[in-house]
Amino acid sequence: MGLIDIASNNSFWRGLDYYESGYVETYIKNADNQYKGQVRGSRSEPYEVTIDIEHPKKSTCNCPHAEGMRRICKHKVALYFTIFPDEANRAKKEAEEYEAAEELRQEELYGDIERYVNSLSVDQLREELIIRLLEEEDADHWW
Ligand SMILES: [Zn+2]
Repeated sequence: MGLIDIASNNSFWRGLDYYESGYVETYIKNADNQYKGQVRGSRSEPYEVTIDIEHPKKSTCNCPHAEGMRRICKHKVALYFTIFPDEANRAKKEAEEYEAAEELRQEELYGDIERYVNSLSVDQLREELIIRLLEEEDADHWW
């Protein structure tokens, strides 16, 4: 799994934004598959970030969100995309396509539900509503 694959949705989008805003100040290749860089953040001093392409969980950042943890923060994502801009374009396109497909799915689902609800009589609607409310009540009690 690549670094981007294990990043949370939030880290992905914030990191992409940081990359596009040019928040990565400098970086060098540290070793094979390893890069070290400085990424601007909320405080005045930039964060010290290292990313390991081969073992993404060994990447480090001294921000409060990631320090001492294996979490992929937005600074690691921003550094990754700065080093591999083609990956940024690809990931962005994929994410946008996924979101567009998801939006379409939601619209279709809404349309299906709307058609179903419009097909019901008032008595059927009352019955359906009672069943759904009972199901919710059950869920509250059992979970
Ligand atoms: Zn960080």
